[in-house]
Amino acid sequence: MVLGWVLGKNPFIRARPARALQNIVSKHSSQFRGNAQHDALEFLLWLLDRMHEDLGAASPAQQSRGPTQPGKDGSSGASRSPPGTQHPRGQSFVQSHFQAQYRSSLTCPHCLKQSNTFDPFLCISLPIPLRQTRALNVTLVLQCERWRFVRVGLAVPLLGTVADLREMVARHGRVPAEQVILAEVSPRGLLRSLSDPEALRAAGEAAPVYAFQPPPARRAGCPRSLPTSPAVPRPEGPRLLPSAARSSDCLHRAPGGRILLLLCNTAGTGLQLSRFGPPLVLREERGVSWEQLQQNILAQLRGVLRGEVRPQGSGALFRIRLAGGSAPCTYLSPQDPRPLCHPAIDRALQLCGAGGPPHVRLTAEWDTSTKERLFGSIQEEVVQDAESVRQQQQAHGQQHSCTLDECFQLYTKEEQLAPDDAWRCPHCKVPQQGTVKLSLWTLPDILIIHLKRFRQVAEQRHKLTTLVRFPLRGLDMAPHVAQRGQPGGQLLGRWAPWQPPLCLPPGCPRDHLYDLYAVCNHHGSMQGGHYTAFCCNALDGRWYSYDDSRVEGVREAEVSTRSAYILFYQRRRAAGSGTGHWVFRLAAAEPRADP
Ligand SMILES: [Zn+2]
Repeated sequence: MVLGWVLGKNPFIRARPARALQNIVSKHSSQFRGNAQHDALEFLLWLLDRMHEDLGAASPAQQSRGPTQPGKDGSSGASRSPPGTQHPRGQSFVQSHFQAQYRSSLTCPHCLKQSNTFDPFLCISLPIPLRQTRALNVTLVLQCERWRFVRVGLAVPLLGTVADLREMVARHGRVPAEQVILAEVSPRGLLRSLSDPEALRAAGEAAPVYAFQPPPARRAGCPRSLPTSPAVPRPEGPRLLPSAARSSDCLHRAPGGRILLLLCNTAGTGLQLSRFGPPLVLREERGVSWEQLQQNILAQLRGVLRGEVRPQGSGALFRIRLAGGSAPCTYLSPQDPRPLCHPAIDRALQLCGAGGPPHVRLTAEWDTSTKERLFGSIQEEVVQDAESVRQQQQAHGQQHSCTLDECFQLYTKEEQLAPDDAWRCPHCKVPQQGTVKLSLWTLPDILIIHLKRFRQVAEQRHKLTTLVRFPLRGLDMAPHVAQRGQPGGQLLGRWAPWQPPLCLPPGCPRDHLYDLYAVCNHHGSMQGGHYTAFCCNALDGRWYSYDDSRVEGVREAEVSTRSAYILFYQRRRAAGSGTGHWVFRLAAAEPRADP
């Protein structure tokens, strides 16, 4: 850019500009020596800093103008100009073209007084809005004439909790949320139940999420049919269970109480272990005998059984293992007259997290030959996909996109300080959780916008490939510039709304329109990448792609891509005729015109 013009005066440099630039850079900076890849923004800021140092000799015209002072908006609170940002002899070349100021305002929630700080910037680093939801498939387990499994696609909040998911499932399945049991069910059995306070991030990661509705508490007189389709609204409105079913039963009134059992059938061992048939939810008396429990489980499986079952030998067809108890592996004993009264069952109920009804997870372990004899080769249940599965996958599969304006809105969004960061309000004299808001106070002629594509989450950095749509012409910065005389501060002056403000701080432009003249693109990932550039040639007004030594024309429509990393805008007024590149004005060595 600028350097190209500066270096272009030297014939050797003109022949091999990239090599010459690299030589000069490595002479002055150890960090950019060698061929390792560096961050383009880091390099750009280093370059601007060096140019600020080396080309700082100001013209007499600039010296007489003196350094730019931060504007005063008349509001209460501190207003400071950061030290060491002005060239001692006046503005440097870099300052006069690239530098402007932003204001950070801290407002006390109690006295509403505002405290302002002004800082210079050479580049605006804009956050990219993140997608707020992700697609999560949940298999609804519906108990009609026989078990039915319908997988629905949900757009769940990325930062939500399991409670949010439970509400969504409840709406989808038209059942009360407190009746919904959410569990991860893997091909090897029940993995875990999900409780309300858990973050939703991990839900469904280890195994598919299933949502169960317990059978009604009283069988007699209760309609056995549950919603036939989760997505089709029923004319009679939400279907509610009889009132007796809506509060959980008295669980520990053994042996009279009834408890909810979530049960999977598995066969095989080790790597061959796999579940088969539908996962079940049963409501059983605590005092039930082993034989009765086994009969009730078989009754639920009658749809997949081959003919009648005659128990052999001891009468136990399978072993029942308790999952999630305090002991790693607890089996209920067929010899126990009341196996569900085992203390481990009580412990499991106590360990049940908040959310749906308390329940116990059990695995019925079958030996392979018994399973083959009674069920044949059946595997897992057949799950039907609702249309929403495809819809949500499509909606979330498309890569995310946003506008540059949305990035600016996020940048200037008001945020409340965290309790730990509370700031001592000079008026209230006590720590307050003030609200912080960034806004641009002045604008530079050359506006460099860095899109924060590299994101740190915990230990990991990753790259956002969001398409940020930015205008090539007429970027209007007016909405992002701080309004003089905002609430909390006094008006700078009084003028009728139809008159232009007369007393703007020095350097405040009336022209907020910018045109793009270059884009720095980053291709690849965090691990390795490649930089290219799109630049608008000021002579022919066309866009070109610069990829190492390859230069070719690009259409304007191709300039905005998912790789855009740093955007270079010039103020339309500063460009003069509107087509000329700002750098030509340097050749004329004319001092910057005052607004
Ligand atoms: Zn206060």
